[in-house]
Amino acid sequence: VKLTSEQEDFRAALRDFVSRECGTREQREGWIDPGEHAHSSALLGKLAELGWLGVAIPEEYGGSGGTYVEQTIMFEELYRGMVPIESLGPTTTVAGCYKRFGSEEQKADALAKIAGGTVMAISISEPEAGSDVANIACAAKPADGGYVINGQKTWCSYAHIAGRILLVARTSKEEVRHRGLTILEVPGDAEGIETHKIPTMGGNEVNDVFFSDVFVPAEAVVGEVGKGFQQIMAGLDGERLLSAAVSVGIAQRALDDLLAYVKERKQFGRPIGTFQALKHRIADLAIEVECSRMLTYEVAQRLQDGASPETTRMTSMAKVKTSETAQRVALEGMQMMGGYGYATEYDMESLVRHSLVLSIYAGTNEIQREIISGSLGLR
Ligand SMILES: Cc1cc2nc3c(=O)[nH]c(=O)nc-3n(C[C@H](O)[C@H](O)[C@H](O)COP(=O)(O)OP(=O)(O)OC[C@H]3O[C@@H](n4cnc5c(N)ncnc54)[C@H](O)[C@@H]3O)c2cc1C
Repeated sequence: VKLTSEQEDFRAALRDFVSRECGTREQREGWIDPGEHAHSSALLGKLAELGWLGVAIPEEYGGSGGTYVEQTIMFEELYRGMVPIESLGPTTTVAGCYKRFGSEEQKADALAKIAGGTVMAISISEPEAGSDVANIACAAKPADGGYVINGQKTWCSYAHIAGRILLVARTSKEEVRHRGLTILEVPGDAEGIETHKIPTMGGNEVNDVFFSDVFVPAEAVVGEVGKGFQQIMAGLDGERLLSAAVSVGIAQRALDDLLAYVKERKQFGRPIGTFQALKHRIADLAIEVECSRMLTYEVAQRLQDGASPETTRMTSMAKVKTSETAQRVALEGMQMMGGYGYATEYDMESLVRHSLVLSIYAGTNEIQREIISGSLGLR
């Protein structure tokens, strides 16, 4: 995909912003909200002012009307810069759901809020419903012109600071498990919601979320009652593209940091980057990063042109390729930096930790391989 000159300008503007505001670790840490590890409300506000949070939101809803390609550029550059606004991933997934299924009123409200900096969370996973989404049990029972929600969700990124949670709940029990699920918008501070942070090696952004008699009105349904499963599936390509853009950003950052280090560090009287044992491996990593980027932008363009089974297959391929590339570059980067790669003084160890989850969320890589092999006629 050849980027337009406007898209190249957008990338340059992002790079400029990132290096000015988050060029050093001290700068990045200076932004982070107390108690968070990778979230800054102030930075989110700055991006909102620049109009970038609405990059892929239509103009009539307060965005700048860009495409999946601009969105990919933004996520690649923000993650390359390790910018602490990781709530943007789930919020962007929520925006996609509203764009596809929201009513006019819901779109006008939610998309404007997202473009303005409101954090939104998406809550699908449950203790007994991970890869098997159809196993969702969290119940939303029809009552008094709305629904009463009871149940537990888990792994909900940024639910603890979300202005709104887009919840997938069971509104009816059907013989076929994939039926009877509905997407509901729930205010993050609704009475009866409790969030508990789950500590992870990547930080503390995920939560168990408990719903006890939480009431939402009938207007809280996003899309159609009973069609939640199909609606979530329709958004998966977009979510996987997002995850691919994040992976490319992390992979590129690990490569950047590795290159800077091996050019500087001397052993046996010469920079370690001149040893063939390292430089050929680094050349291989550079090839992997470039292939990952090309595939990701190809998928962004194809998704923009419209969904198709072939595009879904390529999206799954991009998700696998980019996440495994990010992991390989970060782990190889750590090895080639020796003890300094393992020390928290350098960013490489953080890149390793953050790369490891990329093959787990947005559909595990095993599930992506199921999709890919299934599309090749292997069932
Ligand atoms: C940091 C983080 C953030 C997350 N954010 C969110 C969020 O905001 N909202 C949300 O709803 N969820 C979120 N998730 C949940 C994430 O989507 C799930 O972890 C993921 O779908 C896997 O589900 P699971 O963890 O229950 O694993 P399981 O589904 O139990 O899988 C365990 C293992 O079995 C394999 N497996 C399962 N089924 C099959 C199969 N059919 N074929 C082959 N292998 C299989 C898996 O690939 C995996 O290796 C997040 C997770 C993490 C770690």
